[in-house]
Amino acid sequence: MRLFNTLTRRVDEVVPVDPQRVGMYTCGPTVYRYMHLGNLRTFMLADLIRRALEFEGHTVLQVMNITDVGHMTDESSPEAIDKMLLAMEDEGLQPLEIAEKYTAEALADMTAVGIRTPDVLPKATEHIAEMIALTEELIERGHAYVVETGSVYFDVTSFEGYGTLSGNTLDKLRAGHRDLETDPAKRHEADFALWKAAGPGRLMKWDSPWGPGFPGWHVECSAMSMKYLGDRFDIHTGGNDLRFPHHEDEIAQSEGAAGHRVVSLWVHGGHLRLAGQKIAKSTGNVVRVPDLLERGLDPLAFRWLTFQTRYRSEMDFTWDAIGDADDRVKQLRRRMVGWGPAADGLGALGQGFDERFRAAIASDLDMPAAVVVVNDLVRSPDVPGSEKYALLASWDDVLGLDIEREATIAWQPTDEMRALIAERDAARAAKDFAASDELRDRLTAMGLEVMDTAEGTTVRPA
Ligand SMILES: [Zn+2]
Repeated sequence: MRLFNTLTRRVDEVVPVDPQRVGMYTCGPTVYRYMHLGNLRTFMLADLIRRALEFEGHTVLQVMNITDVGHMTDESSPEAIDKMLLAMEDEGLQPLEIAEKYTAEALADMTAVGIRTPDVLPKATEHIAEMIALTEELIERGHAYVVETGSVYFDVTSFEGYGTLSGNTLDKLRAGHRDLETDPAKRHEADFALWKAAGPGRLMKWDSPWGPGFPGWHVECSAMSMKYLGDRFDIHTGGNDLRFPHHEDEIAQSEGAAGHRVVSLWVHGGHLRLAGQKIAKSTGNVVRVPDLLERGLDPLAFRWLTFQTRYRSEMDFTWDAIGDADDRVKQLRRRMVGWGPAADGLGALGQGFDERFRAAIASDLDMPAAVVVVNDLVRSPDVPGSEKYALLASWDDVLGLDIEREATIAWQPTDEMRALIAERDAARAAKDFAASDELRDRLTAMGLEVMDTAEGTTVRPA
């Protein structure tokens, strides 16, 4: 499996630090609002990487944080309004109730578009001690300093590689990024907070060696990724917008504390645009899973839509395109009904298709190429239907389109068949093999394939 690594700016092979498993960290949802399809495209990328690695036979440990503190202010706006506070005022709920509500909503939306739940979902509010410990370590190693107010800042000039990921060198930062945070006590305008002293109106705050306060957003991901994956792990994912400052700061913190490279591969996903504009709540330009359902669209069709574009590219969402994707997914499921049941093995032609599909997936998750392979297979006059079924059912481990849905629910044995099956199981239990064979013949004569399994007799259309 090869992936484009933002850090090295080339396509790198995934070579797990621990050969037994691939460790992957994904920047997760901020839980004071609903997820939109743009967020879901980014989380889908992480899940696709995991699916692709598992398809290749790897075991993956995937950690995705739940940001329920620490990224609640828009740091680029001068007012820096606490969004959790705004949500509380809107909804009349306490902070943890809001976090709980939107965490459940986020996970449900992810499931709806076929994103499997990560193995570990650590919450920021449950890892304050780890963030404080990491901050202490950085102070001790000369990478951070405490100011009079009780805030702690990372000293960007102390970390040699600062800016490598995003290309934002300190020179450029001096020229262009003065507005990130404004505290006259900071030594450099690009220094960022590891710990922020709590102001008088602050609701979510914790005790620390520097007084009551709350962690910076970036330190959350450093503390939790290293807690669950160790200080050397394989893949870190997020949206393009997180490259700077979030991931740049995360590298400075994690590597500043560990003293060596922590993450091997940084993978970033392109944005989803709606009618040519960035999807953003602030502009009202938002589409969510319930909007798809309302129009009678299968949310899994969103997967097929995203597969048409490479993950690093921006892509446009249009209702026409999702409508076409919905038609295509439903059509594929119907075709499966006619092709089933799956062949036990593949001929040379079928094997060739399988190799093409696997090569596309392994090649930096080239989903548009994988889509071409699917379409070619569907059209091929030379591959038997049963092999098409077997291939698509197997590829669905990556595609996640629930492609066997129609095929597996389309056919059910009749009451008469069920009665014969029960009779045959009773005969076999009584070791009456003559009766058992006779019942098998009767079922076969009804056009069925009869199989003996651990659960007893099972049948399917021959
Ligand atoms: Zn993060």
